[in-house]
Amino acid sequence: MATATAALKRMYIDGKWCAADNGRTLGVINPATEEVIEEIAYGGRAEVRRAIEAAHRAMPGWMKQSSWDRAKVLKKTAELMRERADSMARTLTMEQGKPVAEAKAEILHSADTFEWFGEEGKRAYGDVIPHSAPGKRYITLKHPVGVVGAISPWNFPITLQSRKIAPALAVGCTVVSKPASQTPLSLIQLFECMIEAGAPAGVVNLVMGPAQEIAEELLENPLCRKISFTGSTEVGKQLMRGAAEQVKRISLELGGHAPFIVFPDADPEVVAKAAVVGKFRNNGQVCIAPSRFYVHKDVEKKFAEAAVEFARNLKLGNGLDAGVEVGPMFEKKALEQTINLVEDAKKNGAKILTGGSRSKRFERGYFFEPTVLTGLSPKTKMLTEEPFAPVMPLLDFSRLDEVIQAANNTRYGLAAYVFTNDLTVAWRMGEGLEAGIIGINDPVPATPQSPFGGMKESGLGRELGHEGLEAYLETKAVSFKLRDS
Ligand code: NAP
Repeated sequence: MATATAALKRMYIDGKWCAADNGRTLGVINPATEEVIEEIAYGGRAEVRRAIEAAHRAMPGWMKQSSWDRAKVLKKTAELMRERADSMARTLTMEQGKPVAEAKAEILHSADTFEWFGEEGKRAYGDVIPHSAPGKRYITLKHPVGVVGAISPWNFPITLQSRKIAPALAVGCTVVSKPASQTPLSLIQLFECMIEAGAPAGVVNLVMGPAQEIAEELLENPLCRKISFTGSTEVGKQLMRGAAEQVKRISLELGGHAPFIVFPDADPEVVAKAAVVGKFRNNGQVCIAPSRFYVHKDVEKKFAEAAVEFARNLKLGNGLDAGVEVGPMFEKKALEQTINLVEDAKKNGAKILTGGSRSKRFERGYFFEPTVLTGLSPKTKMLTEEPFAPVMPLLDFSRLDEVIQAANNTRYGLAAYVFTNDLTVAWRMGEGLEAGIIGINDPVPATPQSPFGGMKESGLGRELGHEGLEAYLETKAVSFKLRDS
């Protein structure tokens, strides 16, 4: 905990930027330099309560606006994000570590999310239901769920808040956002865009502070009607238990352990390139990152050679520097966890094909070498626990049914990837895999108009797509009894 400085970044409650009531602040650290880059206001329950109350007061006015008027605010937000993408991307890189080109792609993808939900909000249709008695008529009306608490992690600070804020605002909900404590700065810039785009006071609120305290207020305050959470499965379960008390609506986007499956008819070198790009994007700190690589025995050797070559040539460095392809890991804890995972794999007989340790080229920063391993025993931790690290374990298989079983043998079910040119194999895999998002020959399957979310312990509900709008709506059945005439 540090003292306030001139650069203090504030919370945004009821249309005003504000410091924490007790003046408390927290330093945000650049993972490439280990230096504190900004001080942020670090509040507590009282500020969250005020934010919820402001959001509750703002909701009647916001939901009465037409979907077309709400869309204007969302689309203007998207426009401002695109105009400011370079400066927002630099902030994001400094607080999170990812290369600035990846950060810019995140801002632009999120701008698309705002634009798309602005339009989709105009299509929050109800139904007209055929009657079963002559004097009766039935319809459904869609109603915004209420004040939403939006909690997100540090790996995609803008993307993951946009997937909550944009659909919620589109249908007339109001929002209290809580970013990860170490990555609030780019979100502050997104808030500036929304405010300039015309979001009225109280419609969007930003709070920072100890997670548990903030979550307790969101869970216990009856004015907050929904929690949308992205983060670890363990915290997701805690929130689900807490939400039960008031039967509070909850959406959960949690951990994953995605299989990446290569069939022998796919070109092993082309696929190895896609695998390396997908794996080491954001240092493997991606919920849908491929993390178990099942390669058919016939192409295993060629795939491994190509993957090692591509991984070895990735340029590691400060994400702000030109040409850097892999930045530092997000924090010291993440670096230490990666070191432990690799040590555990080595103890269990794994052979390191490239990487395997903290990079010695940097005096400061949490840099780990992109790592490819083989010969892993099934009990190796990185095969059973979500690794969230730049490690690429290679495994082999020979039969389709065998690889489906291995791929599904996990408590997670978020994403899966299949590489084949055989349509029958692609269909069988699409139907057999237990995953909410499946990329067939596609290492980057997320887009605003398609649903995103997990099966099993990877989550509950979907973001994006029309399902992502539905997540902020209640359905009311309205029955009419007509006069006899
Ligand atoms: P985390 O520890 O669960 O933190 C995520 C967010 O929850 C942060 O804002 C954090 O705040 C807050 N939090 C922490 N403890 C909490 C508690 N007891 N009650 C309420 N909120 C709490 O997750 P992480 O390790 O930072 O993030 C990585 C995880 O997110 C991975 O498992 C990854 O797979 C998952 N993820 C899932 C998706 C998806 O769409 N399915 C997308 C991205 C990431 P503080 O920062 O203040 O601690």
